[in-house]
Amino acid sequence: MEYVLHRKSNCKKIKIRVVEGVVQVSAPFTVSKREIDRFVHEQEAWIENQLNKCALSKENDLISLLGNEYKLHYMNKRICYVEGNDLYLYPDKTLIQRFLKQNVKKYIDLRFKFFCEQLNIHDISLQYGFYKSKWGSCTPSKHKICFNVNLIFMPLEFVDAIILHELAHLYHLNHSKDFYSLLCTWMPNYKEIIKKYKKISIPNLY
Ligand SMILES: [Zn+2]
Repeated sequence: MEYVLHRKSNCKKIKIRVVEGVVQVSAPFTVSKREIDRFVHEQEAWIENQLNKCALSKENDLISLLGNEYKLHYMNKRICYVEGNDLYLYPDKTLIQRFLKQNVKKYIDLRFKFFCEQLNIHDISLQYGFYKSKWGSCTPSKHKICFNVNLIFMPLEFVDAIILHELAHLYHLNHSKDFYSLLCTWMPNYKEIIKKYKKISIPNLY
């Protein structure tokens, strides 16, 4: 297995990371190349798994969008759309991101409105973006909530959980006990749902 080796004086043991499809190994100067090779070899299954996670999606992969599964096709017409159980994408980042954003917005806007009516919440504006490490954010002072477009790949009960999570931040800014007890009155199985889908990986479409 190929990897990039970083020798470090401040590192005590061998560490492996997979960053954007590249296997990076850091090791102390005192460890021999042979030992490092053996360690990497032992971790091969884990490394393969990490590499697969960041691999580009390919023709005929099954892609889940808002709870429905579609068979993926890349084509050379400059348009992205869904037809029956098929998802057609033009391999261009801007175009695909626009398609995902339009579709997640169409769904979440309505679902958000539904919850706001139930909970008697008014005048919150929504924004959508691509974030690496958060599903959403809430700025009560600006009456604004943002959602991660990648929610489009998640099951609908997870999307509901995130919408309610951000709405609960209108009352409690932090993740305190009060925050979770409010959230659990709205969605008693909130924690189970978040846990259930923790390991779902987001497809890499572009
Ligand atoms: Zn939060």
